[in-house]
Amino acid sequence: MRRMGKYTAHVAVLASAVGISLAAWGATALVGAEDGSDGGAAAGARTPDRGTTGPDRPAKPTVRVPEGIAHAAEAGGRAVNITIDDGPDPRWTPQMLDILKENDVKAVFCMIGPQAKRHPDLVKRVVAEGHRLCDHTMTHDTTMDRKPVAYQKQQILDALRMIEEASGGTEVQYYRAPGGAFTPDSRKIAAAAGMRPLGWNVDTKDFERPGAAAIVATVKSELPNGPTILFHDGGGDRSQSVTALREVLPWLKEQGRTFSFPVRTAPDAP
Ligand SMILES: [Zn+2]
Repeated sequence: MRRMGKYTAHVAVLASAVGISLAAWGATALVGAEDGSDGGAAAGARTPDRGTTGPDRPAKPTVRVPEGIAHAAEAGGRAVNITIDDGPDPRWTPQMLDILKENDVKAVFCMIGPQAKRHPDLVKRVVAEGHRLCDHTMTHDTTMDRKPVAYQKQQILDALRMIEEASGGTEVQYYRAPGGAFTPDSRKIAAAAGMRPLGWNVDTKDFERPGAAAIVATVKSELPNGPTILFHDGGGDRSQSVTALREVLPWLKEQGRTFSFPVRTAPDAP
């Protein structure tokens, strides 16, 4: 469906033009015209999707994105990417946002669909403060790489709709599989929907709550692996993650590091 967003939009416009001209012939004619359209256009007419525009409608994908998993930073050089998963969470996400703001750093937030739906205020704040959105599926099933394609599609696209709607129509630019459980199919589904598959280079293991000092130490020791750093703002008590992020950002600056976003349209750099 979303792969055909552009065409759906065209057909939807045509369908509504036809609808307007047919309106003179009565409501029956209008309903007949819409029901007679192809499945995509009919769905577009009844159920708003990315191909439909309007104040509360998500924007359609603007660029083609590769299916390859991104790790590199758009800015290249010594830039790093801060990525924060499993939220939004009313307790931890605002604290992460405060720290990012204090340090003038932009990050990528990989969100769980139902949590985004539950906390649209947090999603809107993430967007308003210049961060980017990432789809982290509906239920965080780390075994989804062994599930049917239809299930993967539902996990990805249902969450995408929830995050987009919660944000007020901001484009979700990345897709990160739970636990890194990507498949060729899930990467294709995400890319077709305008979301670049997103990996990581530095796993802080903050999810296991090893202590803030250990999280900071992991960043320092694994940074040579590459620029994309993984933190969490949901899925449990993330107080250690908050403390670690507060220490890590100034340290990165002291190292001469700058901050960027993961590559979206470019091939991943080695
Ligand atoms: Zn996760």
